[in-house]
Parts: sequence; structure tokens; C-alpha cells
Amino acid sequence: MERFEKAERLRRLPPYLFKEIDRKKAEVRARGVDIIDLGVGDPDLPTPGHIVEAMKKAVEDPSNHRYPSYSGMEGFREAVADWYQERFNVTAEPLKEVLSLIGSKEGIAHFPLAFVNPGDTVLVPSPAYPVYNIGTLFAGGRSFFMPLLAENGFLPDLEAIPHDVASSARAIFINYPNNPTAATAEPEFFERVVAFAKKHGIIVCHDAAYSEMTFDGFHPSSFLEIKGAMEVGVEFHSLSKTYNMTGWRIGFAVGNASAIEGLGAVKSNIDSGVFQAVQMAGIEALRGDQGCVAEMCAIYQRRRDVMTEGLISAGFKLEKPKATFYLWVKVPAGYTSAGITARLLEEAGLVVTPGNGFGEPGEGYFRMALTQKEDRLKEAIKRLKALSL
Ligand SMILES: *Cc1c(COP(=O)(O)O)cnc(C)c1O
Repeated sequence: MERFEKAERLRRLPPYLFKEIDRKKAEVRARGVDIIDLGVGDPDLPTPGHIVEAMKKAVEDPSNHRYPSYSGMEGFREAVADWYQERFNVTAEPLKEVLSLIGSKEGIAHFPLAFVNPGDTVLVPSPAYPVYNIGTLFAGGRSFFMPLLAENGFLPDLEAIPHDVASSARAIFINYPNNPTAATAEPEFFERVVAFAKKHGIIVCHDAAYSEMTFDGFHPSSFLEIKGAMEVGVEFHSLSKTYNMTGWRIGFAVGNASAIEGLGAVKSNIDSGVFQAVQMAGIEALRGDQGCVAEMCAIYQRRRDVMTEGLISAGFKLEKPKATFYLWVKVPAGYTSAGITARLLEEAGLVVTPGNGFGEPGEGYFRMALTQKEDRLKEAIKRLKALSL
């Protein structure tokens, strides 16, 4: 074997979604094209000032310069529990049912290491945030992909999962409001997931990264509001999207004490927790004035309206989403996801993400992230109209 031949787990990885896009983007930019990047879901808005101030103060305090507690400061976990009570009317025991994470991506990626043995099956939506599949692969597990289709409102069809697959699966990942489809789920769907998980002895992992990025007065439920959910699952949250804190690396998991304990055991052997100053900033985010969240939603809602209407008037088809900063747009007739993505980049300088990059059932769509200012979105619409697809 070659010295630096990669391990199986790396060689088996699907190609990195943005690698090819990044290469093409650099090529087009080198030609002097003014690029409008609607590709990556990274907020363009700054972290609210009161959170930055809390961080500044905490950084100055030497007691925060030491190793943090592995599972998170009590104060942070209490702030999470109080936020859950206030926002969802869900009671969680801070020290047993809450865990701090170095971003929710970290917790999602590590979760299968705690509960999935080599060869075990995990139910993973497709298209989806890639980490559910990759975390499963890294644990030696196998993903059984559940297609998210328009005709089912982009919810997985649990009835369509073969009985032997369901009964041998260790876990199911779900994510609503959804990335990349921007679909939302009603509590009735979560009830079906709880019943399914109980019937088959499966752990439910609900990724709720976009629960606060919502429009038109929509307030999605927590999965944990459902009767019996605490017995079967965990919910992952992120401060990244809610408070424009993607770079800070802080999130949390709430849910079943055994699930939290298992994930905590993996983490305590791999990382040493979240920098306390960042947790102090997180406490300020969760306990402080939530006006900043409402302001952020208002900004994205305006962008959503501008872009949805612009796309429709340019001849595209899409649903106006109730949540997330994504638009899931149907590819015009005669194109594939890759084909339209390439044409938008080369002829209009617009970076979007091909739907099939999130999984094969995403073919026929592309995703647009509303992470540019309104004037840039208007410029993007102008260019789309000029393309005459
Ligand atoms: C952005 C995102 C996350 C991760 O966020 P962190 O920054 O790691 O907390 C998790 N899930 C989905 C679906 C996301 O889009």
C-alpha cells in the first residue's frame, strides 16, 4: 500500500458538493465576470452586537481560558433548557437531556459513532444535508436513502421503507424546516415518525437548524413536543443560522438522556468542549432580546419575496417557502440540474447549487440561498430574465 493511500472511509465518500462549483466559479471569475454567489448557506448578516459584546467580555476573563466542561457549561445548558421551555413548552433536564456541540454539524457527524455498528443501517433523506450520510459512513454504517419528493411535500414516505430495512435500522435522520427543499413539516408528520420509531426500535435524530428562520408568522413545532418523542429521539439545534453565528461553532442537542449520554461519551473522547467564552455568547444569544431574530427573519422574508417573484416572472417554477433561506427551484424544461447550473454560472455569473448534488432525487431542481443583499438579488433577476431560457 502507498504511504498516503487514503482509508476506505475517505475513498468511499461522495465527491464534495462544492468542489466542482468552486473550480468553475474561479474560472468564470478569472474572466472578469461579476459573480453573484447564491450557492452556500452562510448568512451575509453580522452577529448581533449584544452577542459580540458578551463574547468580548468573556474573552477577557481568565477563568474562561481553561478547558471547558465536556458536556457544556451548566449555565449554557440551563439557558438551552429555558429556551426550549419558553419556545416549545418542552421540559428538558439541563444536565441529562442537553449537550453543547461545536456546531450542530459536529454533533450530527459524531452521533452515529455512538449508536451505529459497522454494517448497520441508518435511514437518511435524499436530497439532504450531506452530513447524515457521511456520519453514517464514518461509523461504518450504511445509509438507506428515503427520497424526498414533491408529491409527498418533500417528506419521506415511511410506508415505502421495506419492513426488513425498517426493523434493522438503528436511526432515522429528518430535518424540518428542510435544507435543501425549504419544505416544512406539521406535528402530524412528527407523530407518524414517533410511532414508526417505536414500532421498529429506531432512534430519531431531528435536525432543527432552521426552526427560527421562518416567515409569515409560521412557528414550527419541535419534534420533542410530540408525546413519546423524548423516549425515542434527539433534536439538533444550531446558533449558526438563528443568530448569524456560523463562524463561532456552537450548537446543542436536546433529547433522550441515553442518546445524549452516548453522544457525550463519543465527544469526551474526541473533543474537549466549546470555548467557554463562546458559550457565554451563546447564553446571551438565547437569553437576550430576541428582536434580532425577528429582524433577521424580516430581511430574509423580503429577499424571499423579491427572489420568488423575480424567478416566477423569469419563467421559473417554485413554491414560496415558509422557512429557511433557500429557494428550491424547478429546472426549466430541457435542462438537467448540472446543465442549468453551468449555464447560470457561465452566462449570468450566478452561482446556484444543483439539486442532485444533495442526492439523486434532487435532480430536476437547483437551490438558491438568499444570502445576498436585495440589490444583488434584483441584479440576479435582471440577468435571469436576459437569459431567455
Ligand atoms: C447549516 C446547517 C447545519 C449546521 O450548522 P452548524 O453551523 O454546524 O451548527 C446543520 N444542519 C443543516 C440542515 C444546516 O443547513
